[in-house]
Amino acid sequence: MSPRLSATLDISRAAKATHSGPAAKPNLTGLTRPELRQALADAGVAAPEKAKMRAGQVWRWIHHYGVTDFAAMTDIAKETRAAMAERFTLARPQIALRQQGSDGTIKWLIRLAPGVEVETVFIPDVAHSGALCVSSQVGCTLNCSFCHTGTQGLVRNLTAAEIVAQVQIARDDLGEWPTSLENRKLSNIVFMGMGEPLYNLESVAAALDIISDNEGIAISRRRITVSTSGVVPQLKPLGETTGAMLAISLHATRDALRDQLVPINKRYPLAELMAAIRAYPGLSNARRVTFEYVMLKGVNDTTADAKALVRLIAGIPAKVNLIPFNPWPGAPFECSDRATIDAFASILKRAGYASPVRKPRGRDILAACGQLKSESEKLRASARRRQSPVLAAPTA
Ligand code: SAH
Ligand code: SF4
Repeated sequence: MSPRLSATLDISRAAKATHSGPAAKPNLTGLTRPELRQALADAGVAAPEKAKMRAGQVWRWIHHYGVTDFAAMTDIAKETRAAMAERFTLARPQIALRQQGSDGTIKWLIRLAPGVEVETVFIPDVAHSGALCVSSQVGCTLNCSFCHTGTQGLVRNLTAAEIVAQVQIARDDLGEWPTSLENRKLSNIVFMGMGEPLYNLESVAAALDIISDNEGIAISRRRITVSTSGVVPQLKPLGETTGAMLAISLHATRDALRDQLVPINKRYPLAELMAAIRAYPGLSNARRVTFEYVMLKGVNDTTADAKALVRLIAGIPAKVNLIPFNPWPGAPFECSDRATIDAFASILKRAGYASPVRKPRGRDILAACGQLKSESEKLRASARRRQSPVLAAPTA
């Protein structure tokens, strides 16, 4: 069982969930329900027998009403509110920059700590009503050759609080505290921002528990998609602990080419990846895996490539998302021509796969897939290893 799911929690675990470093007060927004209950009991803010009820009240204020001030929790005694304010915080991280693209896409540059920044993008009028693209890491340890984020290196993993904060900031901006499910602009979440979510699964899973909770933000797990470059050993744990929808950044159907485009393929080649996908918990026609395939001119976009793709995914309940390559300064690729993309898509369609071509969104503010990159400085490798042992392992 992951430590996240354990029923006990000491306050040091809560302290890890702060937005702004270990010296700051623990931020309650990144705690799951059991963790919140425990934190309130440990802090002496709720008697053990009342902790569940108190945590339920506090939870609703934080995740249903989006309050950032304990004083607003009007059904809780004044002294209790003051005691909580003394021990904990609900503060949002700072928004360093907000940009809105001509197509309505909004991008926030969020400052988690001095020099540590991450990007979050809201894309209106997609999925059910609109999707928020969240980041799971500052930068990325992997270096897919077509991805801007990959050129940044890794700064660090985000905490659960920092992942939840991205959703909170979007809902603040969209004025959705609270809004009934039918009237929301933000209906879906995709982990397709900066970083490889499966290298930060514990925080991603905790954030999913929080975001999907029915008495809070209440975005169902079926509307939350986690995209991975293919960290094979983490696929099963992802399905089992989160029930999230799965997206795989495939991009090539042969190992020789995928090794170049998505270098983690050298570690987990296609045969292993496809076997792990076929075994993904809960995969069915109602819960299909999405294969993402970036269209790179003259690299992976021929009709032979499309046919190879159909053969590779045969029998898997799947849809294919064709992503026109989004350029970034200095990128060594070009986007395939429209006619080439259409021909590729029609082969998939004939084989029975829904294969929408993703419309580039927010390109004018560098908010489209693979264009995200903040200026956060890289930590030295030794500091990185100290922060996150799992990331110290070679990735390719
Ligand atoms: N690290 C995860 C999630 C973030 S990337 C992953 O790789 O899946 C989100 C999606 O954007 C991935 O499918 C990625 O391959 C794609 N992508 C990256 N750079 C891109 C670019 N320049 N143009 C189009 N899509 C890109
Ligand atoms: Fe990292 Fe995903 Fe970009 Fe690859 S595509 S470098 S895994 S963010």
